[in-house]
Amino acid sequence: MGSAAHIRDWGVGQIAESIAAGEVSAEAVAAAFLDSAVDLDDRLGAFLHLDREHVLEAGREVDRKRARGEPLGPLGGVPVAIKDSICTRDTPTSCASKILQRGGQTWLPPYDATVVQRLRRAGAVVFGKTNLDEFAMGSSTENSALHATHNPWAVDRVPGGSSGGSAVAVAARMAPSALGSDTGGSIRQPAALTHTVGIKPTYGRVSRFGLVAFASSLDQIGPFANDVRGAARVLEVIAGRDPHDSTTAGVDVGPIEQACGQSVAGVRIGIPEEYFGEGLDPEVERNVRAALDELADAGCVLVPVHLPHTRFAIATYYVVATAEASSNLARFDGVRFGSRVVPGGGDLASMYGATRGRGFGVEVRRRIMLGTYVLSAGYYDAYYLKAQRVRTLIRRDFDDAFGKVDVIATPTSPTPAWKLGEKLDDPLAMYLADVYTLPASLAGVPAISVPAALTRPTRDRPSLPVGLQLVAPAFGEALLCRVASAWESRNPARTARPPAVAPSRT
Ligand code: GLN
Repeated sequence: MGSAAHIRDWGVGQIAESIAAGEVSAEAVAAAFLDSAVDLDDRLGAFLHLDREHVLEAGREVDRKRARGEPLGPLGGVPVAIKDSICTRDTPTSCASKILQRGGQTWLPPYDATVVQRLRRAGAVVFGKTNLDEFAMGSSTENSALHATHNPWAVDRVPGGSSGGSAVAVAARMAPSALGSDTGGSIRQPAALTHTVGIKPTYGRVSRFGLVAFASSLDQIGPFANDVRGAARVLEVIAGRDPHDSTTAGVDVGPIEQACGQSVAGVRIGIPEEYFGEGLDPEVERNVRAALDELADAGCVLVPVHLPHTRFAIATYYVVATAEASSNLARFDGVRFGSRVVPGGGDLASMYGATRGRGFGVEVRRRIMLGTYVLSAGYYDAYYLKAQRVRTLIRRDFDDAFGKVDVIATPTSPTPAWKLGEKLDDPLAMYLADVYTLPASLAGVPAISVPAALTRPTRDRPSLPVGLQLVAPAFGEALLCRVASAWESRNPARTARPPAVAPSRT
């Protein structure tokens, strides 16, 4: 029988297997994580909505199913926290924005996102909604209109973003797994900064139906967990073709979790020089290179490669993503959703202006203005069209590299977690944090961030997580998980816990 303190340290597989075997009830598992959230979340701010009774009842439902002898599914009784830009039926969904609130109430979606439906079908317990940068725009979770989220490795530091709440929920053992969304790095970068595993699937691997859209040609939903196997299992459940999202691919999902633990002998890993240059923190570089040396020791072959258009990725992304955002966010106009501000004049245009001016935060407004500008007559060719062309060049860089190697390895983030507030007034510095995650997003290829190490503490900086990013050709998630788990099994810091989490009492 697991004590609550132990259950919190269990991975996704161990939880599902223990419940299926009747060693622990799903209700007890739910209670252990709920207690952890009660202990910690005042300090960390990972959740925007967590309904204790609702979660316990979902656990009891799994227990009743087991009592009736019904199969529980691959995630039977496993709590999964959900980023608050993913629709959950009759449960508040805010996108961390004021614009979806009306009279103190947050919008209640009338339906579940496809990923949420699939989780429920696989027996998962939907475990609250997590904080994010408003509409997923940001790299630190400080752009949330509700509150910031703190990094459990150093509570005066950011957890990364935009899926910072999901990353922290998992890192601090408030949930064993979570869903995030990644448009330009929003799963991988917070995973790296919090010592968790995060996967951005291939574009088209996972349905976006019910994900509030930011940039539709880039957005993908993906999992967080404390180990590669756990993330792989959640990904298997949520992946696959969906008639509600015509961009989902009919490609077989195949076994992803099973690939974990398989030999990596002979796997060719490309090391792109462009990712190891200026701006890379020396401690991050040292640790990522050490992880790669271990993989070489496990039989991988390290091959230098080039991705020559990498330096254009930030500019390209911030044209394409803002253009798409300006169109997607047009629906928040005070008519159909959320709050409405009616100024004195009373005409429609001034209602739109007042509602959007009041309801959106400063970063969202900046993106809408930028996106509207690059799409406007006279500038479309110079910015948007050109960015689309450069996006093709970036995609070709990956095609060329994958002619020579099986996966590509890079640091996930150029630096470890920075202090809260440090980059808040400097959007360009914030955008630079995405330099290593944007190219795979623009190319549509899958990528994982797996913990690489904890930095050596110095006088100005405590020991902080560093992430290793692996990138594969389209639909190569199984290979990603295979290589990531080979490293994970050799990582001495694999089971390290953040200091904000009390050590197991038993
Ligand atoms: N940090 C990037 C941005 O601000 C990526 C966000 C994301 O992936 N949702 O746009």
